[in-house]
Amino acid sequence: MKISRKFDIYTFIVAAVFIAAFLISYRTISTISTETSRLFDISKEFDYLTHLKQTLIDLEHSTEHYLELAESKGYSNAVMKDLAGYEQALRMSSTVKLDDEEKELVQIALIKLPQFTGLLEELIRAEGRITEEHKAAYRQLRVDYIEKTLAGINEHWKEDLEKVTRLSERARQSKSRALTFLIILAAGLSGLLIVARIIVSRSVVRPLGEIEEISNAIAGGDIKKRIFLTSDDELGSLSTSVNVMAAAMQDKLEKLEDAVNKEQALVREQTILSELMGFIASGAELEVVLRIFLGRTRDLMRAGYSAIFIMEPRDPLDPELKFFINTFEEHTGMECGRSMLKGVFINVVRTLTPLRVNTPLTETPMMHVDIRNLIAIPLSSIDKGVLGLVVIINKDGGFTQSDEDMLFNFSFQAFQAITMQQEIIRYATTDGLTGLHNHRVFREKLHEEIERSRRYSRDISLLMLDIDHFKNFNDTYGHQAGDTVLRAVSALIQNNIRTTDFEARYGGEEFAVILPETSGSQARIVAERLRTSIAGYVLDLGGGEQQRVTVSLGYATFPPDADTDEMLIKKADEMLYASKHHGRNRVTGFGDGTLPPPAADTVKT
Ligand code: GH3
Ligand code: MG
Ligand code: MG
Repeated sequence: MKISRKFDIYTFIVAAVFIAAFLISYRTISTISTETSRLFDISKEFDYLTHLKQTLIDLEHSTEHYLELAESKGYSNAVMKDLAGYEQALRMSSTVKLDDEEKELVQIALIKLPQFTGLLEELIRAEGRITEEHKAAYRQLRVDYIEKTLAGINEHWKEDLEKVTRLSERARQSKSRALTFLIILAAGLSGLLIVARIIVSRSVVRPLGEIEEISNAIAGGDIKKRIFLTSDDELGSLSTSVNVMAAAMQDKLEKLEDAVNKEQALVREQTILSELMGFIASGAELEVVLRIFLGRTRDLMRAGYSAIFIMEPRDPLDPELKFFINTFEEHTGMECGRSMLKGVFINVVRTLTPLRVNTPLTETPMMHVDIRNLIAIPLSSIDKGVLGLVVIINKDGGFTQSDEDMLFNFSFQAFQAITMQQEIIRYATTDGLTGLHNHRVFREKLHEEIERSRRYSRDISLLMLDIDHFKNFNDTYGHQAGDTVLRAVSALIQNNIRTTDFEARYGGEEFAVILPETSGSQARIVAERLRTSIAGYVLDLGGGEQQRVTVSLGYATFPPDADTDEMLIKKADEMLYASKHHGRNRVTGFGDGTLPPPAADTVKT
């Protein structure tokens, strides 16, 4: 019930009690007042009768005395005076409220008075000569009048006395009733006051105190506090409002905290990024930069471990791992990295989709760390030449989507910065085995150089080179020996060309050399020089075993032999094929006319 309603009811009850008390007291007071005025009237009447009685007694005495001292001169005048006083006393009756009998009595007295006065005057005139006759008349009058009147007065006087006694008894009772009533009224009012105090305290003061306390707590920052007040009055709705307000504040505060946290994370990210930039700019080793990156990323994510895989995506389904660094084990090598790439991360790398796991991983071969949860983010350099995989492991409470977003944003930027690094670019453009430029870079370079030659109308030659019978060599001496040959041939190529020339591993045991500003005849010289130097080179295969290899070469020149880079490759390849066809260990080029006979220093493997 609403407090206002409660108070309305309460006010109504109090008003009713007051009205009842007023009515009761009005009745009592009016009773007391009528009784008092009645008492007053009676007392006046009483006074009058007393006065009259006294006058009559005086008169009786004086006449009696007069009769005894009838001869005494001047006394009759005094009696006359008494009579005058008596008359005046009788006439005063008009000022007194008398009942009918009393009025009659006074009337009789007034009628009889002249007789009395007349007799007395007669007595005065007959001064000194009072006869027995006078005396008898006098006595008769006295009996008839004074004694009867006195008796009447006495009778009324008695009645009035009784009335007065009765009335004063009633007045006394009324007084004690009024007093009791006043005491009850005072007690009732005090009770009502106490009840009012309890009601106000229970329904207003206490809940208000609670609301105030909780509001202060909320204002003081204890934003999760709520008021548990279920009354259906104004205070109930006030506490609901306070709760709603607190909930809204909590929501806003949480959002704000969230925003601040994000902001702080962003600031941390930027700080770390600029620190990394500093390291990159200062030319720090790739491994140093990667280790810093890993440490900072792990700290940023508040996780236990971190790892990074750097891959060359020659085969998108099976990228070649170039670097594997982690923070969990100093000596965990590439083997561990490779097995993880083939295991848990195979789909991450193949589909370039992030992986977030919040359950313990059981399959972690070669990794002596319990993985409770992880996030793996695949990354790709802008030129798509380098693939990266950042893995963050073991965060208390697991990883959330926002962790994933944060890690993606941060590691993407960091990775781009790092891959800008020359070192990585070299890895992306260099063949891992031989250190020569890789096929992709070769194609780009050839395209560029052809365009340049076209612009400046210069000749450019392309030289293709293939190791003879290399399959046999591998079969005979093993792949490791084959790799040694590949590295040796690469070194020989690098040592026998100009710095402006551009060498590359074209394929398995096939090499290409771009010779800018070089005509066909000049290319032939270079090709011959390469052929003879390779053929003359003795390979030490270990264990006292030595071996030689030969190469077949073909060349073509732009613009005379081809008008595009594709065409130039095709022509040079055809010439290489011609060399093979004509016995290997030889050079064939366009414009050579007839193909030369096989060279004398052909070495069979
Ligand atoms: P040909 O004289 O006609 O060129 O004969 P070939 O045996 O050299 O020709 P083929 O193309 O059939 O064989 C090339 C071989 O080169 C096959 C492969 O075993 C070997 N090879 C390609 N890449 C590598 C490599 O990186 N290391 C090693 N050891 N061998 C390689
Ligand atoms: Mg070949
Ligand atoms: Mg070959």
